Formats: sequence, C-alpha cells, structure tokens
Amino acid sequence: MKGKDLQKAIIGLARTHGWRVAHTPPILAAVRGKGGTIEQRWMTPVQADGKGFPDLLLLRERPLAIEVKGAGDKLRPEQSTWLSAFRMAGVEAYVITEADWPDKVSEILRHRVPNEQRSELAFAVSEDERGRAA
Ligand SMILES: [Mg+2]
Repeated sequence: MKGKDLQKAIIGLARTHGWRVAHTPPILAAVRGKGGTIEQRWMTPVQADGKGFPDLLLLRERPLAIEVKGAGDKLRPEQSTWLSAFRMAGVEAYVITEADWPDKVSEILRHRVPNEQRSELAFAVSEDERGRAA
C-alpha cells in the first residue's frame, strides 16, 4: 500500500471517530539546482525545526502524532527525533505502516482516555484561554 493511500484511509477512519486531523501535504516546488538549472522537487513547506514533523497531528480528548510509512519507506532520523520529542512531552506518537492497517490503527483511534485521567495542566490552559477570549 502506498503511504498516500494509507494516510488517506487513516484520516477517514479518524474523522469517523471524532478526531480533528491536521496534515501539511508536500508541494512540487521549483528549486535552483547545481549549475543554476531549475529543478522540480517535492517538499513540505516547513520552517524552524519543522523538518521531519509527523505526517498527521490528531486531536480529540488527547493529541496523537502519527508518522505514516508506505511500503519500503523508512523512518528518517529527523522524523524519529520528532516522535521522541512528542513522547517526552507525554503525547502518544506512532509510526504506522500497512501492517498496522486496519487493526492497530482502529484500536488506537477507538481508545478514549477518560476525563479523570487527563492532565490537570490541559484543563488549566483551556481555562486561561477562555479568560482571554472573554
Ligand atoms: Mg510519512
């Protein structure tokens, strides 16, 4: 299965389970290559530390970060760094391949963390946001 197809399937299933999904797709960009020639290259428009950012960021009662890997697609070091950073921040982060479709993906997306297990910090921040919006 191509990564693009697997990703589309994950997004579809996530929406049926009530997740909001963010994905920044790669664009075909014109870049100046060696010798000044213009070449077309697929790239994702990110800045700062964005290189390797997970393919999908999902939100429902908790956040999820997902890196999608199609057949033969390997995890790059900068992608691994981002997944580790999410996990260190207490966010579930997964590398999903076609072997995980549909059983593991479905299990992850169906799982719901009860309110009482959610961090108090998350609620504190949302109260603060409400105050600023008023
Ligand atoms: Mg990917």
